[in-house]
Amino acid sequence: MLKRQTASIAVIGAGLAGAVCAQALREAGHAVQVFDKARGAGGRLATRRMEWATDDGQTHRARLDHGAVGFTARHAAFQDAISHAMADGWVAPWSPELAPDSLPLEASPLYVPTPDMPAWCRHLLADVDTHWSVSVDRLLREATGWRVGTGDGLYPDAFDAVVMAVPPAQAAPLLQPHHEDWARFASLVPMQPCWTLMGVAAVDAQAPSSGRSWSAARPEHGPLGWVIRNDRRPGRAAVEGQAHWVVHARPGWTRLHLEQEPDWVKQQLSTALADYLGEPLCWMHAVVHRWRYAVPPPSHLGAGASASHWWDAPRGLGVCGDLFGSSGVEGAFLSARALAAAMLDAPDMSVHERQTWREAGHVVAQTSIDRP
Ligand SMILES: Cc1cc2nc3c(=O)[nH]c(=O)nc-3n(C[C@H](O)[C@H](O)[C@H](O)COP(=O)(O)OP(=O)(O)OC[C@H]3O[C@@H](n4cnc5c(N)ncnc54)[C@H](O)[C@@H]3O)c2cc1C
Repeated sequence: MLKRQTASIAVIGAGLAGAVCAQALREAGHAVQVFDKARGAGGRLATRRMEWATDDGQTHRARLDHGAVGFTARHAAFQDAISHAMADGWVAPWSPELAPDSLPLEASPLYVPTPDMPAWCRHLLADVDTHWSVSVDRLLREATGWRVGTGDGLYPDAFDAVVMAVPPAQAAPLLQPHHEDWARFASLVPMQPCWTLMGVAAVDAQAPSSGRSWSAARPEHGPLGWVIRNDRRPGRAAVEGQAHWVVHARPGWTRLHLEQEPDWVKQQLSTALADYLGEPLCWMHAVVHRWRYAVPPPSHLGAGASASHWWDAPRGLGVCGDLFGSSGVEGAFLSARALAAAMLDAPDMSVHERQTWREAGHVVAQTSIDRP
């Protein structure tokens, strides 16, 4: 538990885990500052703004969701949060019409933030002090408290506590000087990579596909894991004469081609998409994005896998996110909520979670932050 009634807390990462944790701590009256290396919130709940010019001098714009496809809500606490977010208009259910030969969804409905993927995180962080385009490359524990280091030096404020809410591979080097065991665990989480193709294609009204109404497919074979008509997702704008495609390659295919040039990957995934659709594509604009660390496989196990988060109260150091074995957006949310509860000593960390955490040899919660 935090010692001070108004503790100063740095949260590194403004994805869903960071946003949920920051908002809960802020709501409890603490002075929270969030740092993210990106230009805005959302992390892997990502939407790319694309802009391109055509020969006639016109500028065109489109927004494509190139990170998480959508998320499940199995846990009551997450369902509750989603109900609130839906009532406020930040999240919508999505039961996509699947292509006839698609594998089924593992769960339905899925949920997606609206009008774009980062919207929910932006909303959660509306009252939180945020610093964008700040890549944290070291954490120092000084007599005055935690200091946040960036390329150009140290951020001036000292903090009573730090929360790491970044993907495990990025958390590991920051944790290394302070918690070698955590850093080791984080560095071993086998995150799956994903090459993503996103693009806007011109639609030929005469083509057989123009009558096609499906909005998602999970092909059974080939390099593509997901094929999505982004303009048919909830709250997304459809433009006449355009089809907005987002295509995620399978982890195995991505791993094999991880270091290939983007142009080559674009060519391969475009061909795979055209093959899947059974007709050529006429791109107006298309790009690829490489996610080195997209999702941890659901079954990964390790020393920390029985925990939902880490909280070292004497040091004032916490970790949350999707690295604890319960993968995906829902896992990131639950992890962040559990960390915030432990920091606030609130009762919503379940007895089971506390027990498994104790069995892993860690302190569940202490009553103070000891100054270094
Ligand atoms: C292509 C793809 C498809 C996916 N599909 C699904 C799906 O269908 N369902 C599902 O549930 N999940 C899916 N996921 C996974 C899901 O997006 C993540 O599990 C979830 O968003 C993780 O949230 P997070 O807050 O833990 O981390 P992130 O969203 O990664 O947020 C971490 C934040 O930390 C910032 N950061 C990192 N390092 C630093 C640093 N040194 N200094 C400052 N800031 C830093 C990043 O910029 C980022 O904003 C998918 C992910 C990808 C990439």
